[in-house]
Amino acid sequence: MDINKIRADFPILSQQIYNRPLVYLDNAASTQKPRQVIDAIVKYYEHDNCNIHRGVHYLSVKATEAYEEARREVRQFINAKSTCEIIFTKGATESLNLVASSFGKQYVKAGDEVITSIMEHHSNFVPWQQMCLERGATLRVAGINPQGELDLDELKGMLNGKTRLVALTHVSNVLGTINPVKEIIALAHLHGIPVLIDGAQGVSHLPVDVQEMDCDFYCFSGHKMYAPMGAGVLYGKEKFLEEMPPYQMGGEMIKDVYLDHTTFNELPFKFEAGTPNVGGVMGLHAAILYLNGLGMENIAAYEDQLLKYATEKLSAINDIRFFGTSRHKASLVSFLIGNIHPYDTGMIIDKMGIAVRTGHHCAMPLMDYLKIPGTVRASFAFYNTFEEVDQLVAAIGKAREMLS
Ligand code: PLP
Repeated sequence: MDINKIRADFPILSQQIYNRPLVYLDNAASTQKPRQVIDAIVKYYEHDNCNIHRGVHYLSVKATEAYEEARREVRQFINAKSTCEIIFTKGATESLNLVASSFGKQYVKAGDEVITSIMEHHSNFVPWQQMCLERGATLRVAGINPQGELDLDELKGMLNGKTRLVALTHVSNVLGTINPVKEIIALAHLHGIPVLIDGAQGVSHLPVDVQEMDCDFYCFSGHKMYAPMGAGVLYGKEKFLEEMPPYQMGGEMIKDVYLDHTTFNELPFKFEAGTPNVGGVMGLHAAILYLNGLGMENIAAYEDQLLKYATEKLSAINDIRFFGTSRHKASLVSFLIGNIHPYDTGMIIDKMGIAVRTGHHCAMPLMDYLKIPGTVRASFAFYNTFEEVDQLVAAIGKAREMLS
């Protein structure tokens, strides 16, 4: 990994803020975009822009072919069996809402149960909670141990004949914990229960093979993997997607429309109503090529070094409390310093040029469980450096002096 060369690909990283070099450590919220991704979007709008699937003319055919080529690239990236299992969405949130709505209608009835965990982002919690409320089903929530790891015994004990789905995050956006998803999926499948994995924080840090994992659904957002906002993916096993009803109605998702009824298009188009974000998908395609160029194994190994270095250096700060200390962790650290409010820490280090996220990180049930108002979260990408970690540690030390 030639970090200087990599950083040169990301124009935004070379700027100064408050007369200091920007240190961007908010990658779990959204990653920055390399020149290759920006160029792909510009190229699309300068040369190829057109609505897809419906036209016979040159531009429409070209844009359609590029869109379907991107779908083939996504299929390969996560090793799905077929492109009909790759549905383009706005992002992880829309993918999760799609499954909650459509799977819920097809398979969940009063008295049934859905299992999730206390470490979920609201996007993988509220849709299930609301779907269960609507359908008279029960949402069961597995807890965590003091290291911030899923309580597997509790989760195992929840699997029963009434369970219709397990919906779990691959990687916690607060704790960094990498869940043993393969083991959990195998266990749920023993009971014939399908499993959805929220991969919003997984796919940018770890190699993902949905066939090897054997998950039934996997969701992610392009903008957290160096692609633009507004383009994401739902992977689903064909047998479920075939049985599930459409999520939204409109153009492209139909086969034939009559006055009194409609027949629906084949997969994946049945779930892609309306004009999609073609430009965004061009960016997603370019981002995957970029990640493949670096190699997901190399990215994971480098980010792991950054995580270990940051954890060690931050540990030297007095009164620091970490949230999430699993041995299986993605590259983020969540912490509090003494009784200092996380917003205060975030505001002060912002003025030193350092961007971290503070607050509940869209995980209010987890904050309640931990009895804290929020955390400071520094999340690292492959373009971050050890020097930037040093700058973070120095800034946190200064903030602590000023605020204690
Ligand atoms: N799931 C997890 C674990 C996340 O971290 C996030 C965003 O932070 C989401 C889902 C939602 O992603 P988006 O807002 O891109 O739809």
